[in-house]
Amino acid sequence: MCQQDQLAFWTKLLHLDGFQVVHEELTAPDEPRRFTVIPKTPVGLCPHCGQLCEDIHRRTESDRVHDLPLGERAVQLTVRTYQYWCGGCDRAFTPPTPFLAPGSHATERFLEQARQLIAFGDIANAAAFLKVSESNLGRWYYDYLERQQKQSPVGPPVKPIRQLGIDELSLKKVPAVRRRADRPYESARAGCPGKPRQNQRHRLSGGG
Ligand SMILES: [Zn+2]
Repeated sequence: MCQQDQLAFWTKLLHLDGFQVVHEELTAPDEPRRFTVIPKTPVGLCPHCGQLCEDIHRRTESDRVHDLPLGERAVQLTVRTYQYWCGGCDRAFTPPTPFLAPGSHATERFLEQARQLIAFGDIANAAAFLKVSESNLGRWYYDYLERQQKQSPVGPPVKPIRQLGIDELSLKKVPAVRRRADRPYESARAGCPGKPRQNQRHRLSGGG
């Protein structure tokens, strides 16, 4: 595979909206895969006057940003972005990078994956799976939650719930093991939301 094909392959695999891989750093097998990505189309839409601009005023490279691992290898990105100069209104602007929050050390999809993993386990296990340090992941995770909270300060989470947490699974499974109606000798305590989690687990593992 020639280098261009290889870069096209990584671009397709990483699937970062509007960006392409232009460089792959050769790293040892126990190191992260490292890619440099740039906008596919060097054109910006001025947010002030709506004019299309191709006049690149400044090029900026991010620090290394963590992305979802590929198999056993961690992935780090260097994201190159362009600041444009709009001749229409004489102002500079930088188009947003949808997959990357400003100042973030990880992609949005990495942080969302971390959030889901942490919902099922804890930060230490999520960090091991995502191949980053526990302290870093903890910090990013709480920043991410705080940012989500600001974007949606009231009510339910930003995204619909696709998976149930451990407590919810326990509560749902208890009646399936044995319906309360089948146990007239027991008071209505199984499946009670106020019940300590440990007892719920015990009930499940004991088969009811
Ligand atoms: Zn403009």
